[in-house]
Amino acid sequence: MSTEYNGYVTAERVEGAEDGPLAGRTVAVKDNISTEGVRTTCGSAMLADYVPPYDATVVERLKAAGATIPGKTNMDEFGMGTTTETSAFGAVENPVAPGHVPGGSSGGSAAVVAAGDADLALGSDTGGSIRCPAAFCGVVGIKPTYGLVSRYGLVAYANSLEQIGPIAPTVEEAAELLEVIAGPDERDATTRDAREEGSDYEYAAAADGDIAGMEVGIPTELLDGADEAVVETFWDAIDDLEARGVTTHEVELPSVEHAVEAYYVIAMSEASSNLARFDGVRYGVSGGFDGNWNETFARAREEGFGDEVKRRVLLGTYALSAGYHDKYYQKAQDARAWIQADFDEALAEADVLASPTMPVPPMELGESLDDPLTMYLADANTTPVNLANLPAISVPAGETPEGLPVGLQFVGPAFGEHAVIRAGSALA
Ligand code: GLN
Repeated sequence: MSTEYNGYVTAERVEGAEDGPLAGRTVAVKDNISTEGVRTTCGSAMLADYVPPYDATVVERLKAAGATIPGKTNMDEFGMGTTTETSAFGAVENPVAPGHVPGGSSGGSAAVVAAGDADLALGSDTGGSIRCPAAFCGVVGIKPTYGLVSRYGLVAYANSLEQIGPIAPTVEEAAELLEVIAGPDERDATTRDAREEGSDYEYAAAADGDIAGMEVGIPTELLDGADEAVVETFWDAIDDLEARGVTTHEVELPSVEHAVEAYYVIAMSEASSNLARFDGVRYGVSGGFDGNWNETFARAREEGFGDEVKRRVLLGTYALSAGYHDKYYQKAQDARAWIQADFDEALAEADVLASPTMPVPPMELGESLDDPLTMYLADANTTPVNLANLPAISVPAGETPEGLPVGLQFVGPAFGEHAVIRAGSALA
């Protein structure tokens, strides 16, 4: 099934078990999640012909739950982007806002759900890549607490930040999919059992819309500088929640002004290390050996990687190099600790925090590709959450006067998925 908006890289159907909680439903899978026997490209020419010999843990769980996988979805190359325009397989167009980007990097996953070409989808979120496309395509996306969902079989971009999570038309359906994929995995030592963290896995039951009495903190820093129509839509949604018994108060997160800088230093540093395996020998297109291994590797990487990936590998290598490590990487780690402390403090007095998911509505196709810095700044509201390892949801909040979707983000405490699901279910 190809789509005119370019949502799938590979539309190969894989049937799951006969029955189970997802029987009869299709779940599209982002193309950086390994699927046995079905090529997994990460949106990169480097992996155009790569067919994994095993399933990611989340894919095993989908199949066991009876889901049908209709295909692998298009994405920014290795997850590096906010618009799904850096894919080697072409940009994805936003099916609900033609001429605009679907957000990224899981743009294909959000687009196929928004267009009805899959019931549900999996994305991955390193710095917003589930929540951003969910917001831009008018659907729901959940970024789980770090350690709730196994990353075994997810091709790593920045492993200390990323989680696999669900994208769905409604909060309840997203919660159902989260129930299937969540839980510890002995093949990923960073996973934890939510029950040992004072929680449980009954996520769908939390999607009851019952928000009366909830306390919502609103970090003023995440509204500063946001697009006017986005801010207006956000406040309208908050008014609606207040009318239904929610109380709100403003909170301060002074550290978040450093989040984008800290995020990009950490993400690029980890990427430079994680992507070292794509040298044409261990993984990736061959550089053709001619007697000099350095040149062989360089040729493979020159040919296989796109511009954004090269930019990040170079900057990450620089940030980690001797002499600069303390100046960049260590500083970014300090900022990360400060951001975590700020969230802890704010969440001590609120059930969830609310902000616009993205400070801007979906950009026009081609508008932001030549301006990486502006693109990075669009991640201002999503990256702090990954740095703090917390769960968050993006739900549709309304539209701009031009009819472009606006998403609202709720952030909860670690393993507090229920709180963000409950809050989100009041809106979608
Ligand atoms: N836009 C961010 C980046 O390019 C987030 C990407 C993601 O979450 N994978 O790094």
